[in-house]
Amino acid sequence: MKSANLQKTLGSAVTCSGIGLHSGLPVSMTLHPAEADSGIVFCRTDVGTEASIINARYHLVTDTMLGTTLENAQGVRISTIEHLMSAFWGMGIDNALVTINGPEIPIMDGSAEPFAFLIECAGVVEQKAPRRILKIDAPITVRDGDSWVKAVPHEGFILDINIDFDHHLIANQHAHYDFSPHSTKSQTSFKQIISRARTFGFSSDVEKLKKAGLARGGSLDNAIVVGENSILNEGGLRFEDEFVRHKALDCLGDFFLAGMRIEGHITTSRPGHGVNNKFLKALFAQRGSWHSEPPAQIISLSRMPMSASVAQASRA
Ligand SMILES: [Zn+2]
Repeated sequence: MKSANLQKTLGSAVTCSGIGLHSGLPVSMTLHPAEADSGIVFCRTDVGTEASIINARYHLVTDTMLGTTLENAQGVRISTIEHLMSAFWGMGIDNALVTINGPEIPIMDGSAEPFAFLIECAGVVEQKAPRRILKIDAPITVRDGDSWVKAVPHEGFILDINIDFDHHLIANQHAHYDFSPHSTKSQTSFKQIISRARTFGFSSDVEKLKKAGLARGGSLDNAIVVGENSILNEGGLRFEDEFVRHKALDCLGDFFLAGMRIEGHITTSRPGHGVNNKFLKALFAQRGSWHSEPPAQIISLSRMPMSASVAQASRA
């Protein structure tokens, strides 16, 4: 089986520390290897019981206001997961356990680059199970106000993205990313073109957010701050179109909550965490709009211990 078709996890555990963008709280986080078919799983070590496990799946998203927040059946939350999820997607990781001693993923520098670097340090190793791909079978469009996401069948994965802000320093930006295996820009392009793009906010909103108890950890060290007539960060932007690149980074992280990599051509205008989640919910609710390869049953059989699958086979 080709390497791209096999699941991957981390070669070793790797730890980092930082602060939450909204909570302002210091946290320590460790990314661990995980067995095949386990997906991305968060574990809140500060909660410390079975309630601490939160699966990185779209149906557990409960808040999309200023980031993507997951909440399990016991009401335990983990927020601002999208940049880490994007790094897992872009660096080819399918299975990982993320232990963290607080409610929010550290914001680091506001991009996914520090997470991509951590994953590189840990190493990426192949597992024996086949990677499960979600293939779009029929066009589907989901709208949320002025925002929309549309997916159509395509061999490979393309993201076309458009943003339109009522601010002359951002205005209208469009980008086209082809992540298909046959494309010359593949995983490398995530690291070089997407991962370094930082989150952004407007100086006019900073006071409002802080008064509302949000963005407490926000600073020029972890976000682009857009002033009335200039970028307030020393050194300015990392890319001329850093804003649209960051929105693509967010989309990739949010879409990976499907629990599988998507194969199709996605076009989105004014994407956000809310419409991204609405898209996944609509996609999974609409029979015939997708299928997975290999199908789920094959995966679950391969997870069984050898003795169990042998017993089942002998009963058949
Ligand atoms: Zn973001």
